[in-house]
Amino acid sequence: MTSAWQALKGHQEQRALFARSVERGRLSHAYVLTGPEGIGKRKFARLLAQSMFCREHPAHEIEACGECRACRGFVAGNWPDFIEIGLPAGKTEIPIALILGESDRRGREGLCFELAMSPQASERRVALINDAHRMNQEGANALLKTLEEPPANALILLVCDNPDSLLPTIRSRCQVIRFFPLTEVAVSEILLFEQMVETPEDALQVAAMAEGSITLAQQLLNPELRALREMVSGQLELLEQMKPLEISKHVSDELDRISSGTEEARRNAKWLLRFIAGFLNVRLKRLTSGDFSDPLLQRFGVRCGVDLLAPLLDRIIIAAHQIEGNSPVRLVLEAMFDDLARQLRLGPLSAR
Ligand SMILES: [Zn+2]
Repeated sequence: MTSAWQALKGHQEQRALFARSVERGRLSHAYVLTGPEGIGKRKFARLLAQSMFCREHPAHEIEACGECRACRGFVAGNWPDFIEIGLPAGKTEIPIALILGESDRRGREGLCFELAMSPQASERRVALINDAHRMNQEGANALLKTLEEPPANALILLVCDNPDSLLPTIRSRCQVIRFFPLTEVAVSEILLFEQMVETPEDALQVAAMAEGSITLAQQLLNPELRALREMVSGQLELLEQMKPLEISKHVSDELDRISSGTEEARRNAKWLLRFIAGFLNVRLKRLTSGDFSDPLLQRFGVRCGVDLLAPLLDRIIIAAHQIEGNSPVRLVLEAMFDDLARQLRLGPLSAR
């Protein structure tokens, strides 16, 4: 039998946790699903809801066939007992109308109203609130009332990146379930499955830098960042010949060219640092696994490899903190490349 959960990678512990709660009859009425951006929290919440409705499986199995009337209705977006809201495109907060209804129909439509009605086609109603930290005060207060006196058989799922960004009064009425970054393998599988990359090599390369997040992987696949990554790798292949001033000017100009505004330049600069760190990390991994075939490592001499590379990585982390702390990107990069070049020229500490 097929399972709709096949579309989800990872997060099986969290699924088992819900299964245990349902089996023991201890499902709470409200949960906050939280964890880094782009790891599948919304997908999980939707599958959980679908599993509550699926006719082919008892609720405690947390399983959905994907084929029964309920599953098909759910996927098609017309299952009457499921309500989903989130941040509309271009908005900075969830409109109160989605929670309490338009001003002339306040309290007679919207999420809170619909949730209070009896289920029409299943045993319970499920509400999913994406970007839950984007509710304004009014919306949060309205939801709070529902959380204080939850309708029977209602399940409320709030999805957000950081539980601390929710009102404490809301958080304390929900059970918080943490989600963790995906593994590199899971990220690369999703990239291939969603046809976001063409080859398994591409998938692995992007996954290695995506910090377990499909959102980060997506940014990384932006053609301009991709070109930047290739340019940087090309420069780093000739690490020992590095001319710090030249390279920092070159990459800074490139960052300016591909970024509109300082905010984006800062974000792209962080990517640049990740690329450099990624490049060095690959070499470090090879060294520690006893693979000395890398031409760059051979030129530097294998004996001092780890000693040489590890301090370079430390220096990159310092630069990342400076960029995070709003230091001017150009100056941060110039100083960093200068230090990297000096460390390379002097060789590893142990050999000085
Ligand atoms: Zn089904």
